[in-house]
Amino acid sequence: MKIEQLDVSVYRVPTEEPESDGTLTWDGTTLVVVEPSAAGVKGLGWSYGTGACATLIREMLVEVVVGSDVMDVPGIWSQMVAAIRNMGRPGVSSMAMAAVDVALWDLKARLLGLPLVRLLGQVHDEVAVYGSGGFTSFTDDELIGQLGGWVHGLGIPRVKLKVGTAWGSRPERDVERVQLARQTIGPDAELYVDANGAYSRKQAVRLARAFADEGVTWFEEPVSSDDLDGLRQIRDLIDADVAAGEYGYDLVYFERMAASVDVLQPDVTRCAGITEWLRVAALAAAHGLDVSGHCAPSLHAHVACAVPNIRHLEYFHDHARIEGLLFDGALDPTGGALRPDQQRPGLGIELRRADAERYRRE
Ligand SMILES: [Mg+2]
Repeated sequence: MKIEQLDVSVYRVPTEEPESDGTLTWDGTTLVVVEPSAAGVKGLGWSYGTGACATLIREMLVEVVVGSDVMDVPGIWSQMVAAIRNMGRPGVSSMAMAAVDVALWDLKARLLGLPLVRLLGQVHDEVAVYGSGGFTSFTDDELIGQLGGWVHGLGIPRVKLKVGTAWGSRPERDVERVQLARQTIGPDAELYVDANGAYSRKQAVRLARAFADEGVTWFEEPVSSDDLDGLRQIRDLIDADVAAGEYGYDLVYFERMAASVDVLQPDVTRCAGITEWLRVAALAAAHGLDVSGHCAPSLHAHVACAVPNIRHLEYFHDHARIEGLLFDGALDPTGGALRPDQQRPGLGIELRRADAERYRRE
């Protein structure tokens, strides 16, 4: 069943207001949408990347994909990896391949009339999510509103906020915000923090102790993800789970990181798609680790339910908002879990073209 066409488009959705974490500020999110066709059926995949991904897809990947058999997604994936060799595997290349790979898995499932989770092979009926946002740029009222909305409004019993305010230069503010978060969500919900690499090693250990007083059980990127020795030392010194992996683009990256963290966080939109994400999950299992899907909840729900060692998915505010704005079929996190729709083929997601048009860039 040959792939006849591969369409690429780019959308940019502004955030409601500028947002910051410990090490970055942004005011919008770019999606690169890929739609392959075969036998009169269109697939859908996307990556939260940059327009450069679309250029790379048009220049280098279309010729690999068009004419290939959609039943052989890992074979096409291997050819894409070979084709981008001279561009470098991390970054734009892998985010471009991710959008294509996800779209091909979606197309194959649609052609077979199966929900994607059944094509991959289902292990779980549903996957837990945690509400993720709590930006360092938020006012206290915004923080209370968002975290309280997830826990008390939607019944999601776990949330994460950003810490590491201004590159770790305001630790007392981080402790205040974590205390406020705990007051807001009550004693029973799980509370997670993400420093996005803003702290130094000893600073992270000291703050982990302060956060532990508020029952924080997940400390993400306490130091830079490039500091594997630091991650390992912190993991060995604190009770909270240390998590990282959102900047992982290939299997070897995760193999190097596995000895330094408690949970790996592969992102299907960055690690070259579902094909590699499944291998990362297997690698994690071999190290006795869980995986947690990083962001893009609608793209992770099916693949997460197809591996045994899934901890949860990050229900990231920006992506959840975008998926609600642009797509039909985005899953509802009420109660704290996503359950793939068994009645819809593929990812079960349709692009609402008329609604998306105002955000279109190319
Ligand atoms: Mg993170």
